[in-house]
Amino acid sequence: MVERKAKGATVTFTDKDGHCSRHAARGGLGAVMRAKGLKAIVIDDQGAPAIEYADRKAFQETLKNWPEVLKKDPSLAGMSKYGTPGIIVPLRGLGSMPSKNYSSEPTEGFEALAGPSLDKINQERKGRMDGCMPGCLVRCSVVYNDPQGNHLTSSYEYETLALMGTNLGIVDPDAVARFDRISDELGVDTIELGSAMGVAASAGKMEMGNVDSALALFDEVEKGTEFGRVLADGVVATAKLLGISRVPAFKGQAIPAHDPRVTKATGVTYHTSPMGADHTAGVNYENPMAKEGQVERSLKTQIMNAMQDSLGYCILAAPNDKKVLINFLKDLINARFGLKVTEDELVRIGRETLKDEIAFNEKAGFIAVNDPAPEFVRTEPLAPTQSVFDVPQEELDGIWKQLDTIAV
Ligand code: SF4
Repeated sequence: MVERKAKGATVTFTDKDGHCSRHAARGGLGAVMRAKGLKAIVIDDQGAPAIEYADRKAFQETLKNWPEVLKKDPSLAGMSKYGTPGIIVPLRGLGSMPSKNYSSEPTEGFEALAGPSLDKINQERKGRMDGCMPGCLVRCSVVYNDPQGNHLTSSYEYETLALMGTNLGIVDPDAVARFDRISDELGVDTIELGSAMGVAASAGKMEMGNVDSALALFDEVEKGTEFGRVLADGVVATAKLLGISRVPAFKGQAIPAHDPRVTKATGVTYHTSPMGADHTAGVNYENPMAKEGQVERSLKTQIMNAMQDSLGYCILAAPNDKKVLINFLKDLINARFGLKVTEDELVRIGRETLKDEIAFNEKAGFIAVNDPAPEFVRTEPLAPTQSVFDVPQEELDGIWKQLDTIAV
């Protein structure tokens, strides 16, 4: 997809087993790479000098306690056992995991895609949980084999299971794993393509719940037919071509597998983040359906995520208590570089990163051209709670006034 400059093209990374399973997927980065004439980046660390530490002993001392901290965190224990598919049962129960083009129609049998089901299959077929990088203590990445025990796909994640599974009414884990593998090989964002396919299905271009019908669309994408190219350009392009006004996207980007009607802080993130509907920018399920306090919850999460992204610390490997994480990162950085960075200074990295992103968008004229927020999230109640996104627009508009002052 990179070569075709598809808007859903990813920057694909080979994982430690050599599989092209990890992607910088959101925001069409692959298309940007191609537009700049960049084909690939190869990193050869042979002969590279060892990392120097200002205080090696303090660095190792800080690291020594970290496995215990992570082990004691209940949500991380679940991540290590089931990976991100571990959240499928609660999130589908809430309606947050999309079903049949983000509708209220249920997808019967969705449990087949959930963590315990994949875990059982993995035990039978000798699949495994692994880390997407050496040294990760959480190891939340599902490595999934076919019925013959041969490798089918890696990093088989919640968002893919949602957008290419229940969002298309499909509950066959082998079929969705195949979709994931095809997407890996094409280098396309599974959220963007799955969302586009859901919209296409609602327009009769695919039969909802039918694996072969979905595979026919993948075939179009792979062959680069006229419609396949539009699908690879994502949900906004697909809806436009098909004359559909109910577009599940914010700022041109497909809604990921956290429905803003039932996780309202996440909805605030979709509305306000410089990245639009990006699940890595700030998902938050604290008191998810309350109308009040969601701007603050979103803003705190956006600051933390921007800080973690800037430092290269995985947002999924974080303990629930953010203060513990900030303190840990501060001690590591100080030991590595011989600095005296405080917790507040570390958090400021997140605040400044968001400011830079907002400024970039403004300079690029992105604010002027971005699409309006989808109306259906405010008007179409979502089963089973019948909740809608109802955070007032004035509160959304005022979010950045608190950027420098809100306590994280
Ligand atoms: S916790 Fe993060 S670094 Fe570790 S395997 Fe999961 S996604 Fe990768």
